[in-house]
Amino acid sequence: MEKLTVAVARRPESIGRNARIEGWVRTRRDSKGGFSFLELNDGSCLGNLQVVADGSLPNYETDVLRLSSGCGVSVEGALLASSGHGQTTELKAASIRVLGMADPEQYPLQKKRHSFEKLREWAHLRPRTNTFGAVMRVRNCVANSIHRFFQDEGFLYVQTPIITASDCEGAGAMFRVTTLPLDNPPRRDGKVDHAADFFGRPTYLTVSGQLEAEIFATSLGKVYTFGPTFRAENSNTSRHLAEFWMIEPEMAFFDLNDNMDLAERFLRRLVRDTLDQCAEDMRFFEQFIEPGLLTTLEGVASSAFRRVSYTEAIGILERCGAEFEYPVRWGADLQSEHERYLTETVFGTPVVLYDYPRSIKPFYMRVNDDGRTVRAMDVLVPKVGEIIGGSQREERLDVLEGRMREQNLDARDYWWYLDLRRFGTVPHAGFGLGFERVIQFLTGMANIRDVIPFPRTPGSADF
Ligand code: ATP
Ligand code: MN
Repeated sequence: MEKLTVAVARRPESIGRNARIEGWVRTRRDSKGGFSFLELNDGSCLGNLQVVADGSLPNYETDVLRLSSGCGVSVEGALLASSGHGQTTELKAASIRVLGMADPEQYPLQKKRHSFEKLREWAHLRPRTNTFGAVMRVRNCVANSIHRFFQDEGFLYVQTPIITASDCEGAGAMFRVTTLPLDNPPRRDGKVDHAADFFGRPTYLTVSGQLEAEIFATSLGKVYTFGPTFRAENSNTSRHLAEFWMIEPEMAFFDLNDNMDLAERFLRRLVRDTLDQCAEDMRFFEQFIEPGLLTTLEGVASSAFRRVSYTEAIGILERCGAEFEYPVRWGADLQSEHERYLTETVFGTPVVLYDYPRSIKPFYMRVNDDGRTVRAMDVLVPKVGEIIGGSQREERLDVLEGRMREQNLDARDYWWYLDLRRFGTVPHAGFGLGFERVIQFLTGMANIRDVIPFPRTPGSADF
């Protein structure tokens, strides 16, 4: 018998086919007429397949009438047109085989509604819920769309290291990687002696692949990374994870405007593909997670982002009369409340902020002629705030060395990075997009812990 997924079985073209469908029971309803309806889901789509189980099935009383939410089954039968609400097809069962029971007294998802907080404790079962199934399908769609976008634009996919020796990439606190015994590490002159460590030196989990990506951009042109990133910041917010995925394109011969154009084209493509390819899941998010989501995303996909300099943005925030928890002042970093005010209240569209004060940005961002600002850019979107951070990179050796002194960085640690400016330096630019932040934006999910399979946050890495 031909196996079909629920997604295929639900299509009108499948009417008349005989098929085997395998999945998990969501609900069972018994009718007075001596037959039962099973709602079957296999994760291939949001919708369930309705199975009609007639009382004449040989195992109707022994098996079918014992089925409950969570049971795994294999059903063979004929796909018929359905008059039921919300479905075009249904499966008239010729045989139902129970693959695995799920004791209703013990199965955690037996009860229909659980809070997202509660579901985090069951990271092994929550993908069986509508919300997490939809989140995972959108994640998959976006990952595919990211690769397609860059491949279509002629980018090369590069892999940058996860274990890194540079402890000063400037992007955040790092996790140590070591095989030294923590209870009694070898010491020399009172300090831990890393000569005996696995790599013979201190090593860390990467906070960004940018510096390494620059190596490949300045030899191969346009490249991108897409990999795990680790930050040991103790920030318990709804937008920060200790382990997240980041996409980092890096392009030779790009200035800041080229960079902004690319970021905008890229985000719009991700929105468009998700709306087109995940229509059913996106209607679910609109209905149950964030009303108005589809209108917002349609707007993002079809209209230009606003580009505003940091200095202009500070002026707007100072004049707007809104009360902020953190004061607004030229030279201070923008807080999430400021970012959201700009994109949600002032402009109502994604906003690209550029030309930030040099004092709050890393050494590698290109210094502007005014001497006070650097060619940085952040893309802000409603509900999430910063989704992309990037810049044109400083390609002038002397300026770069000056910036490193300014930030007390040792040039010897960056000898290879400086070599890229010594030998054939060219203008180049790039940015980082947080994968989970873009999934939050697309789904309307309020907490970043609910858009990644296994969230790692301070004090929590249970699965
Ligand atoms: P934020 O100010 O929001 O903490 P950042 O400025 O430290 O972010 P960047 O170093 O610019 O972040 O990283 C590029 C992108 O990676 C960010 O725009 C964001 O989308 C994502 N990102 C950064 N930190 C995290 C995190 N802890 N969890 C999830 N995504 C993150
Ligand atoms: Mn940033």
